Amino acid sequence: MAKIAILYCKRIKDVSCVACAKCFKAVDKRDGEFAKMDGVQIVAMTHCGDCPGLVVPRVKQLMETAKALETSIDTLYFGTCMKLAMETAACPIDFEATKAILTKKFGVEVVLGTHAY
Ligand code: SF4
Ligand code: SF4
Repeated sequence: MAKIAILYCKRIKDVSCVACAKCFKAVDKRDGEFAKMDGVQIVAMTHCGDCPGLVVPRVKQLMETAKALETSIDTLYFGTCMKLAMETAACPIDFEATKAILTKKFGVEVVLGTHAY
């Protein structure tokens, strides 16, 4: 059972997907990027750190919170909202560079996108 956290675009959550219901459905139905997983437990869902791309300090806070609560995070998903922000809305995050930093600093897998809804 993989323990996961989902990050969402702080500027668009509850605009493109109300209440993040799409990602919860995708996890439940193993749609999209979750189709590859045998089992998934959502440990946390939080924003990306806001512009201009403050993901690394945000993930540091997230990891510290998980540790304080005696849990852990194996995989971080950047929600489809973040993927779209990068592709269409001048989001300043460089996914590959950020993924490399997060993997090195926190030992997590990082996946871009969640579902295709
Ligand atoms: S793509 Fe997922 S994380 Fe992003 S706003 Fe929609 S449901 Fe929430
Ligand atoms: S545009 Fe990018 S950095 Fe800005 S809030 Fe959205 S995902 Fe975060």
